[in-house]
Amino acid sequence: MRKMINIAIDGHSSCGKSTIAKAISKRYQMKYIDTGAMYRAISWYCIQNNLISEAGVKIEKLKEDISEIRLSFRYNFDTESSETFLNDENVEGYIRTIEVSEKVSLVAKIPFVREKLVILQQEIGKDKNVVMDGRDIGTKVFPDADLKFFITAQVAIRAKRRWEELKDNGEKLSFDKVLENLKMRDENDVNRKINPLKKAEDAILIDNSDISLADQNDFIFSIIDKTFKE
Ligand code: C5P
Repeated sequence: MRKMINIAIDGHSSCGKSTIAKAISKRYQMKYIDTGAMYRAISWYCIQNNLISEAGVKIEKLKEDISEIRLSFRYNFDTESSETFLNDENVEGYIRTIEVSEKVSLVAKIPFVREKLVILQQEIGKDKNVVMDGRDIGTKVFPDADLKFFITAQVAIRAKRRWEELKDNGEKLSFDKVLENLKMRDENDVNRKINPLKKAEDAILIDNSDISLADQNDFIFSIIDKTFKE
């Protein structure tokens, strides 16, 4: 039988982490967990319940509510993708919007939010065979992951890819707005006090600014194949 491994994929916003993770999940029949979706779902909850204002997040109220917030993923066989559920409501259609992207790093820096989500992520990955993407997977969630990748690309290239994706989903946004959002999230993710975005020492660094998706996947698959053989 093949050995069970966990794979951690971290990196900057919109550098294709989830595309890589989905490809790995499909090829190796591993469970895929998008941890950004968890932070996005909690941000969506805050927006829906008026817990975010110009002044920031209403921390005390969120602290009261947090134990009641249930997150889960369910696989949709029609779209062949996993969908995010917040208290049994499918929120997949709401959490990728710019409205959520603008708020998510405010929510992601709250210590009790991170604590709850890290515990949930560790629980999901405890039996291995999981590929998880995020910002702190290789450093905090699974510091002992069998394989770690750290993905990045030039910010203008990432913004262009994201802008095109949003356009395809019907969001009318200027390229500059998308670029500004990515820079803001990078800055917040790298500089926050708890579990900042940082390459784990033993992570394999990939800058995909100038490489095709196919070449990147071939490279990653060759490393995974080697790990399974070891
Ligand atoms: O991966 P995605 O871009 O959807 O993540 C949205 C946001 O969630 C990030 O900008 C980051 O602030 C936060 N996040 C995090 N830790 C993770 C995953 C995401 O702080 N493990």
